[in-house]
Amino acid sequence: MAHSAHDLIAVPKAILNDVVEIRRDIHMHPELGFEEVRTAAIIADRLKRLGYDVRTKIAQTGVVGILRTGKPGRSVLLRADMDALPLEEATGLPFASSIPGKMHACGHDGHVAILLGAAAVIAERKDELCGTLVLCFQPAEEGKGGAAVMVREGVLDDPHVDVVYGLHLWSELPCGTIHTRPGPMMATSDTIEITVRGKGGHGAKPDHTIDPIVTAAQFVNSVQTLVSRKVDPLEPAVITIGAFHGGTASNIIPEDVHLLGTVRTFNEALRDEMPAKIETVLAGCCASANAKYDFTYLKRYPVTANDPREAEYVKELAAATLGPQRVGLTPKVMGAEDFSFMLQQRPGCYFFLGARVDAQPETPHHSSHFLIDESAFEAGIRMMVALALDAPRQS
Ligand SMILES: [Zn+2]
Ligand SMILES: [Zn+2]
Repeated sequence: MAHSAHDLIAVPKAILNDVVEIRRDIHMHPELGFEEVRTAAIIADRLKRLGYDVRTKIAQTGVVGILRTGKPGRSVLLRADMDALPLEEATGLPFASSIPGKMHACGHDGHVAILLGAAAVIAERKDELCGTLVLCFQPAEEGKGGAAVMVREGVLDDPHVDVVYGLHLWSELPCGTIHTRPGPMMATSDTIEITVRGKGGHGAKPDHTIDPIVTAAQFVNSVQTLVSRKVDPLEPAVITIGAFHGGTASNIIPEDVHLLGTVRTFNEALRDEMPAKIETVLAGCCASANAKYDFTYLKRYPVTANDPREAEYVKELAAATLGPQRVGLTPKVMGAEDFSFMLQQRPGCYFFLGARVDAQPETPHHSSHFLIDESAFEAGIRMMVALALDAPRQS
């Protein structure tokens, strides 16, 4: 059960102001995955000054701050991802990105600021802690799987971590609320790469060619029936072909066509069947046209699945810390998250911190207009501090 004293967690005004300043500074200086050198230096410097045992260069730019109390208790990891996206910012904010083509459009700047704010509050309340605390600042969440690299480089082993928690700002949810769910919460994310190989020639003599454009177009249409006809209707799944490249002129039939796509599911067994299912459709389309193909299926992120007990615990702790009216159950989300690699190794819970700007609700994640309400940060800090104080005491 959550400690009832946690509704007393107060975040001093000076720390709150500092957190907003950190967020805006990082927002102005976005860095892409595995390039978070400036961000990592700010984090390491602050953690050292607060008295944490600091390790840098885990998974290239990752930073970890460790606090060992010497008292019995679980070892708890709190994670913030640090990377920005390759996107041109169009928010017009006074602290908008100063780097062309790069933008914090997912809220990871806020994650870093919130965890640094929590680190400051925790440092002041060190005597109340037990167990071991690991503050984990992770690179490259956006597509490059920085969490998997940190796991490979031992972030869960030295010191041994018992339980992991990850927070994500969510621009669709009411500001300052916590939403999570037991079991699968976010989807798998895999990539398909296809080349359809035909035989090029004159656009006026298609009978002398093997037209890869028509064959690839047939595949794109046919593969859409895979989810509707070959997958259990009660299992969510998505196949999207996001790129279709071929040809150079109106009257030339090209040699080949390149396709890129994404595959999402919530079920590892179904995920394992997807490569063969997709290739069967592709092989059929190509066989009927006498075309050849190359097919690559890249497994990227697994399902983000919360331990049911830990998800229940996070909801109870959030209710005790922020009030029950600020806690909710999120539906499953088809997006993906590399925190899944940590949740494969250890029990834990990933949760959303609502940060919707009510006046401008159409500012989704990964859009050049992405906005969050910074007044959500206080709830995020209180939640991270509550986890640091309380989660080591749970069994
Ligand atoms: Zn994102
Ligand atoms: Zn994100």
